[in-house]
Amino acid sequence: VSLLERLRARDDWRLTAQRRAVAGVLRGDHVHLTADAVHELARAELPEISLATVYNTLNELVAMGEVLEVAVGDGPKRYDPNVDVAHNHLRCVGCDELLDVRAGANRPKLAAGQAHGYRILDVEVIFQGLCPACQRRS
Ligand SMILES: [Zn+2]
Ligand SMILES: [Zn+2]
Repeated sequence: VSLLERLRARDDWRLTAQRRAVAGVLRGDHVHLTADAVHELARAELPEISLATVYNTLNELVAMGEVLEVAVGDGPKRYDPNVDVAHNHLRCVGCDELLDVRAGANRPKLAAGQAHGYRILDVEVIFQGLCPACQRRS
């Protein structure tokens, strides 16, 4: 189900033209756009939309659990509409490509004594490497 379809089904969030322009951009697989990129693409549909509106809308979508915020490396945050299926990320350190992947069945575990009394809720894994194109370049 696409983000836009999920949002249409909600009755607690009015799908204004601006919100539709932002959400419409976040569709498909392996989509991890920066706010700037979302802004650029949303302007194609709604030329007057501001970067501030894009940020506000993205933050609301993240708070609603409809969009994931992905932080990788030291670059800007990326926004990912793929919340239906739990997934990990595969990142190319050469060109910053970011793909959705599923990890093997065994989630990484802390070594003995490393939990510091925490009850662990979640693990985020980013696999990093060089994509085929970057391997050819190096
Ligand atoms: Zn690459
Ligand atoms: Zn993702």
